[in-house]
Amino acid sequence: MFLAFCGPASPAEEADPPAPVPQPQPSAQIERGRPVWLLDALGNLLSLPKKLILLNRKVDSHSVSPKTEQALQAFLAAHPEAAKDVKVRINQWTPVGEFRRLAQNKRIEWYFRIFPGILTTLFSSVTGRILGGDHYNPYTNTIHLFSDDTAIALHEAGHAVDFARNPFPGLYAVGRILVPVELSQEQTASDIAIQHLKENKDREGELHAYQTLYPAFGTYAGDAAGLPYGNYIGAGVGHVMGFWQRHERRLGYQALDEARVGGTVRNDELSRTLLARREESRVTLLETLGGKHDQARLE
Ligand SMILES: [Zn+2]
Repeated sequence: MFLAFCGPASPAEEADPPAPVPQPQPSAQIERGRPVWLLDALGNLLSLPKKLILLNRKVDSHSVSPKTEQALQAFLAAHPEAAKDVKVRINQWTPVGEFRRLAQNKRIEWYFRIFPGILTTLFSSVTGRILGGDHYNPYTNTIHLFSDDTAIALHEAGHAVDFARNPFPGLYAVGRILVPVELSQEQTASDIAIQHLKENKDREGELHAYQTLYPAFGTYAGDAAGLPYGNYIGAGVGHVMGFWQRHERRLGYQALDEARVGGTVRNDELSRTLLARREESRVTLLETLGGKHDQARLE
């Protein structure tokens, strides 16, 4: 799917062994639940509707690869403000551990931790191992991850960054009952995730993120609109918008590669390439993306 940038592999390249998948460093901050085959298979099955709505079989797969975990580690390393105290639980069932964190999380006022913190933590820590549902619990400052998808993992970590930056995290958490606050939090978390992928020049990751995070946002927006089957309609709109954004960015990257001369991008060359292809809209896109063909934003 993401082979558009790659040329055909030469026989010599084909003969090379595949690069080893980097293994995440052991970290006390990230804990994994013990795999329970039957439970995980059932959880995977129960999440079929979510897989369908997001067109992503990795959603709530209850089996998270080292690659996803490593991407999360790299994200946390790049965001020390959130990494300081956050906990990541990968497919783990630990209500006791979570209630301990709830009691100790001094960033949230005690009364917000009592209500709605206790109820939220009860639901969040008890049901996930079977029902899935990646989420960030601000009352315990914990990321719960069940999907083997980097974009989703970084989105949840994006929530942690958003809360770490907020001077009133308790109020911000409770404010989520208001639809505009909820949607704004969702948008912000996705923006932080995508920005991280751009800064790390992870093109594949970025293009994939549009495919997953746009429809996911659509489910929230669709629900908020109060329409029957609103989340399905919203996801559908999100898929179209995500597809379009991915398409535009991919063309932008292609043009960028073509304009690259000796390691530097010539902006005049970039716009000439695009105009020669009668792709005026791409020039406008690049201007929108980063001022006057500022390739730094695109790279
Ligand atoms: Zn979210």
